[in-house]
Amino acid sequence: MSTQTPQAIRGTQDIFGPDAEAFAFVVETFERVRKLYRFRRIEMPVFEKTAVFSRSLGETTDVVSKEMYSFEDRGGESLTLRPEFTAGIARAYLTDGWQQYAPLKVATHGPLFRYERPQKGRYRQFHQIDAEVIGAGEPQADVELLVMADQLLKELGIQDGVTLQLNTLGDGASREAWRTALIDYFRAVKGDLSEDSQDRLERNPLRILDSKDPRDKVFMADAPKIDDFLSDEAQDFFAKVKSGLDAAGVKYDRSQSLVRGLDYYRHTAFEFVTDRLGAQGTVLGGGRYDGLMEALGGAATPAVGWAAGIERLAMLVGDRGEPKADVIVVVEDDTLLSRGIAQVSRLRREGFSAELLASGSLRKRFDKAVKMGASAILALAIRDGQPAARRLVEETASSSLREQLEAIAADFK
Ligand code: ATP
Ligand code: MG
Repeated sequence: MSTQTPQAIRGTQDIFGPDAEAFAFVVETFERVRKLYRFRRIEMPVFEKTAVFSRSLGETTDVVSKEMYSFEDRGGESLTLRPEFTAGIARAYLTDGWQQYAPLKVATHGPLFRYERPQKGRYRQFHQIDAEVIGAGEPQADVELLVMADQLLKELGIQDGVTLQLNTLGDGASREAWRTALIDYFRAVKGDLSEDSQDRLERNPLRILDSKDPRDKVFMADAPKIDDFLSDEAQDFFAKVKSGLDAAGVKYDRSQSLVRGLDYYRHTAFEFVTDRLGAQGTVLGGGRYDGLMEALGGAATPAVGWAAGIERLAMLVGDRGEPKADVIVVVEDDTLLSRGIAQVSRLRREGFSAELLASGSLRKRFDKAVKMGASAILALAIRDGQPAARRLVEETASSSLREQLEAIAADFK
């Protein structure tokens, strides 16, 4: 019998220490910001019927054609671990009667699964924060989401070197005309394109613009531009998004080649990108997906949303150090253990973070307490036969913490 410990699955991560603190900081900041923008929290299943993703993302996308974790369950049904949030949320909107809340602003976060080649910033189980506005066709919804994303990055302290790349894919008709022109253009040079792009040419030519292969890149500059195909309506929509961003003071760069990987996008498409993460430079991406609900068999419903990789945001946040305790309670005399438990509980109930040190030599307890670097140490001892609480308070301690410690010391007899 082998006693070897099974290894973790390739592309998954056990997140610990500063990385876990940065991860939590991203999620907490997102929770705070989404409340400022009044997005309602939702929790979604981690798996769905495979059709939820294959029908909404499109069979020709990378995610559906090669990245999904799909399996048959014991009942013979094809299920898929969610590779993204939007499709499942759209499914819920249709199956749970969420139409009654339209326009519906929702936010969530959690794990997603894609069979990708693991590398820095790219995992097989990763995590996203996600925000969607469903049932809103006005450009103001796009603006609100973008301003929220911008504020989130600022509150995370990572806005430097992160830029908003903005594009429009136009409405259905504009996009279709552009698509045809792209097929004509790339067909003429088909033999010189990468294998992937030759493959995409007829089925999903927009994706060629997204290619990082140098064989494709040489043809980008002269490729047809969406601006030459935009209907008046699509131009007007895009102008309103841009003026809304200007009004809110959000800076952006126009990126004519930004297309996003998924089929369901219309009008606004955007990414927040940085060169501080090497090849995995997109931290947040999204756009308008007016075509999605119909692909899922629902009534035409305009919607817009974005998602951001928590790991990539956490990498930008970097090491914030482990959070310091407000108080370390050191029990100097073992007969005071119960009273030590009482004091540390009292502190925590009053909202102060506290830790109890009551084992090892006395010297060790203090060394450890000092090393932990709390705002205060509360030492419980017997002095002249009487219990006494000594306070060592750092200058950084808040006045409410000082008051609390004073009250404890006064009661500790
Ligand atoms: P990429 O171009 O990096 O593959 P994508 O277009 O596939 O990104 P989206 O589907 O738009 O990404 O997902 C939104 C965000 O989720 C990305 O900007 C990124 O931050 C994060 N993300 C996507 N795939 C992964 C992954 N495999 N590992 C870690 N984060 C990811
Ligand atoms: Mg991808």
